[in-house]
This record gives sequence, structure tokens and C-alpha cells, in this order.
Amino acid sequence: MPIPATPYIWFNGKLVPWEKATVHVLAHALHYGSSVFEGIRAYATPQGVAIFRLADHTRRLFESAKIYRIQIPFSADEINAACREAISANSLRNGAYLRPVAFRGYGEMGVVPKHEPPVDVAVAAWEWGRYLGKEEEAEGVDVCISSWQRMAPNTLPAMAKAGGNYLSSQLISMEAKRLGFAEGIALTTAGMVSEGGGENLFLVKDGVLLTPAVAHSVLSGITRNTVMQLARDMGLEVRETAVPRELLYLADEMFFTGTAVEVTPIRSIDRITIGDGRRGPVTDKIQQAFFGLFEGRTKDRWGWLDHVDMAGTARVATAR
Ligand code: PMP
Repeated sequence: MPIPATPYIWFNGKLVPWEKATVHVLAHALHYGSSVFEGIRAYATPQGVAIFRLADHTRRLFESAKIYRIQIPFSADEINAACREAISANSLRNGAYLRPVAFRGYGEMGVVPKHEPPVDVAVAAWEWGRYLGKEEEAEGVDVCISSWQRMAPNTLPAMAKAGGNYLSSQLISMEAKRLGFAEGIALTTAGMVSEGGGENLFLVKDGVLLTPAVAHSVLSGITRNTVMQLARDMGLEVRETAVPRELLYLADEMFFTGTAVEVTPIRSIDRITIGDGRRGPVTDKIQQAFFGLFEGRTKDRWGWLDHVDMAGTARVATAR
């Protein structure tokens, strides 16, 4: 199903109608994977719509670009403003998913052409509800270990959220779905647990929260970081470490984190039941704290909520 169109997409500095935000078929990124992007959620909080950890996502966008020497022709403040504008211009009062993307565009052909292609930047926003249903959020999902490994260190950098990395994610997730699982978990080339096709992974063992360290070819997830901070706030011990595959089978609880999946329990892996085969007590507490941020139950001590001034909507409407 195509994503529901909103009236405007922010494209290279201005709002354009959704259907006009197009690129040439010879754009560099389409052929060589040279895009960097973000996935950000905005939530309808009791104080109005707020973008979750906008500054951190924008920072990661610039860091991904830095790795690939992509010069984003806008400042971080301008990208932040573009994200707010994409929400206000489209009147997304019920929350939204934001997709900023920067990529080598249409210019000379070639992997590294003599003249750098121009860098295009867009921010789209649309309404996107829960990625998984309420039921999965409570009951958990069934996953498998992928036969595809994650990129080896010093091949494709896992810390860059780059379009090309999602070829690996596609292989992992397509295989899992074909086999009847909700998602696949990849191991590193050294055989340690890495991450899901589009999610970071946590497990609870003897009351301690464990997650693969960034050295294990994982994206340094912003939800991962959020969960680590919330868990430490609750007095839980959190360890970023090397996780052997069999520790997953022996976990008391396991869950995914990510902007799309938020905090989703895992109830089985490779058809082996995890714990009681449903959301465990630690996962429950972490979900409560996480969703509490948006429902007003968890105090935002970190300044993670970036409130959007919806008055921007009226300005755009009258300008056109
Ligand atoms: N790993 C991968 C491969 C991802 O695509 C994502 C989603 N961006 C994550 C982890 C989770 O990151 P975040 O919490 O920042 O969305």
C-alpha cells in the first residue's frame, strides 16, 4: 500500500506539492546507494504534537553524511526547522513519521564522477500509526536468526544510516518473512548477535539488561539510547556487550527497539520460547516508561520532546 500522501514535502529548501517531489532516474543515489536518511516520530502529547529527539536524529543524519563525505547544503537548524515545517504544513496533529533524506542527486554519471553531483535534501512527513498492532505490543513477535550476516567491520559502516545498508536489511527481513517470522536477527561475521533488519535488540538475563555494543555492526539507535537511559533511571543495570547467539535462547525476556517498532517484545526466536512466551515484567516497565514520555506519565527530564508550533500551517495555507 503506498504511503498516504500529505499535501507538502520539504524539498531543497521549500515546500512542494507531494507529487512534485521527484528526482531524475539517473540520480547518483538510485544507482550507487549514496543516500543517508532518518526515521523520526512525532507524537500527539497532552501539550500538542512533539517530535521525539529531533536534534539527535538530525545529528545522526549529519554524522552519516560525514562518513560518506556528503555535504548537506543546509545547517542542522535548517533541517530541524524543515522537520517542524513538514508537520505543521501538513497539519499532522495526531503525530507523524518523518523521513529526512539527503542524497547525491542528478549530475555526471559514475561512482565517483569528476564533478560531485549536487546533494538533494528532502523531508517528508505522514501519519503512521503503530508499526505493529496493540496485540504485538503486548504479546510479542516471533523472530529468527537470519542466514544473512550483518556487514563486517570496515566494509559498509553500520553506524551510518545510509540507503545502501538497507540492502542488508532487505535480505534479512525478506528471508524472515518468507519463513513466517515477523523479523530476522543478524549475527556479525564473528558470529555474535548484531541487530534486527531495522531494529536494535535487548535481552534481560537475571535482571540485567544486555544489548550488543556498537562494535557489533549495529546502528547506534536513538530508541536504544532512550531505553538505556530510562532503564538506568529505574535502577536497572544495563550492559553494552558481546552477545552470543545461544544467550538469546536462554534470555528471560527479549525486545526490539526502533523508531518504527518503538519497544516491541519478542516471544520466540527460532521457535524457541523466550521466558513465558509473552511480554515480561522488565519489558512491560520499559514500555510504560517509554510510552509515558508521550502520554505525560514519564517526565521528560532530557528535553527530548520538541514541540511543533502548528500555527505554521496557517502561514503556508495563506502563502499559496
Ligand atoms: N538498526 C537498524 C538497522 C535500523 O534501521 C533502525 C531504525 N532506524 C534501528 C536499528 C533503530 O534505530 P532508531 O532507534 O534510531 O530508530
